[in-house]
Amino acid sequence: MEKLKRTKISDLLKETDKDKVVNVKGWVRTKRGNKNVTFIALNDGSIIHNIQIVVEAGNIDEQILKLINTGACLSVTGTLVESFGKGQGVEIQAKEIEVYGQADPETYPLQKKGHTLEFLREIAHLRPRTNTFGAVLRIRHAMAYAIHKYFNDNGFYYLHTPIITGSDAEGAGAMFRVTTLDMDNPPRTENGQINYEEDFFGKSTNLTVSGQLEGELGALALSLIYTFGPTFRAENSNTPRHLAEFWMIEPEMAFYDITDNMDLAEDFLKYLVNYALDNCIDDLQFLNKMYDTTLIERLKGIVETKFVRLSYTEGVDILMKSGVKFEYPVKWGCDLQAEHERYLVEKHFKKPVILTDYPKEIKAFYMKLNDDGKTVRAMDVLFPNIGEIIGGSQREENFETLSKRIEELNIPTKDMWWYLETRKFGTAPHSGFGLGFERLILFVTGMLNIRDVIPFPRTPKNAEF
Ligand code: ATP
Ligand code: MN
Repeated sequence: MEKLKRTKISDLLKETDKDKVVNVKGWVRTKRGNKNVTFIALNDGSIIHNIQIVVEAGNIDEQILKLINTGACLSVTGTLVESFGKGQGVEIQAKEIEVYGQADPETYPLQKKGHTLEFLREIAHLRPRTNTFGAVLRIRHAMAYAIHKYFNDNGFYYLHTPIITGSDAEGAGAMFRVTTLDMDNPPRTENGQINYEEDFFGKSTNLTVSGQLEGELGALALSLIYTFGPTFRAENSNTPRHLAEFWMIEPEMAFYDITDNMDLAEDFLKYLVNYALDNCIDDLQFLNKMYDTTLIERLKGIVETKFVRLSYTEGVDILMKSGVKFEYPVKWGCDLQAEHERYLVEKHFKKPVILTDYPKEIKAFYMKLNDDGKTVRAMDVLFPNIGEIIGGSQREENFETLSKRIEELNIPTKDMWWYLETRKFGTAPHSGFGLGFERLILFVTGMLNIRDVIPFPRTPKNAEF
């Protein structure tokens, strides 16, 4: 007999042509039954739903049935029939079962249901096999695809910016060093410092904290570009919203001012949330039921709501007049904390907020200075449950103003000459922003901890899997 090709469960559940013989492969979620009949719920990760395998006594060897426990991997051939069980259209009457891999019920960590997310973090190598992580990972995939689709459909080019960078002035936080020097016995200069001239690249290098500076070079040639890659920050911030390794999407647009930038950010986020509602509804319904019954409502709310736009100064005014006692007191000039951002979004406006025109002291050197000389054309998009989801700005395109700012901040220009040359040769007004991919996934899935929306989280003291 010709070998039957595997059909994905996602396709089987849509199948209308009954009574045909099919092959399905997957992992056992549950097995139950009596001496006459055994029911196996099989999942292959193609969809959140399982397919039910019905094994009538005598059809399959007893010895094989004994090997089948939760977690085992099977290949099942049988007849696809209509199911009389509640909530499932079809099931498979097994004719033949091959056990690819057993899972010992005594030691398989996912033998029982209902583990805490904290426990699942300790078994990151197995947690993709749970319903929750299956849902999160499928949504994560759909969002990555939608991001590329959105930009492609809107005339943006995907630019691959480097992961190893020679500049330590990207301006977004502490960096991880990249070196091939012998750490026990590094070469030294005459005055005793480590001599990075002898390192792999002939200079000191780090993992990138942002692709923006190189993204600007692309925008000043191709007009509309975006990056989508991993970024690394060696901050010791153990919060539910920070990872040491995360993915960032950074569009950069020539000829866009800050208003164009805000319009793009709002349209982009609404597109992504809408894409999830249109394409991931099974997974969203599962998460809505199990974790957060307001999730789908909140997602729909975003698509339909016009984001509030106001200045940092107005935002600080509202916070100071709120009478709320924040952990970090607010005054003009202070950096806003998640508690402040979330007050504006969740309590005051009950809508996403785009905050603009921050004091220059708390923002990066490359942001365009306003005429007041005090504030810069920054724009942060603040979301319910998340706080800052996007950080962006119009960039300073004037060579003199930018050079002066770099000097004021004592940023070493020897590593930045190439960036400054864009302002010397054919400079143009331009803008861009960075969307933290995992913050987006947090919002779309309703999960509360960023460690639960990336397959293998990197956080302080944690790089096991
Ligand atoms: P925050 O103030 O929340 O620490 P940031 O101002 O340092 O963020 P940016 O440098 O503006 O962040 O980066 C752009 C976006 O990248 C942020 O809006 C956020 O969505 C995301 N992001 C920043 N840091 C992290 C991190 N450590 N882990 C995950 N996402 C992050
Ligand atoms: Mn920011």
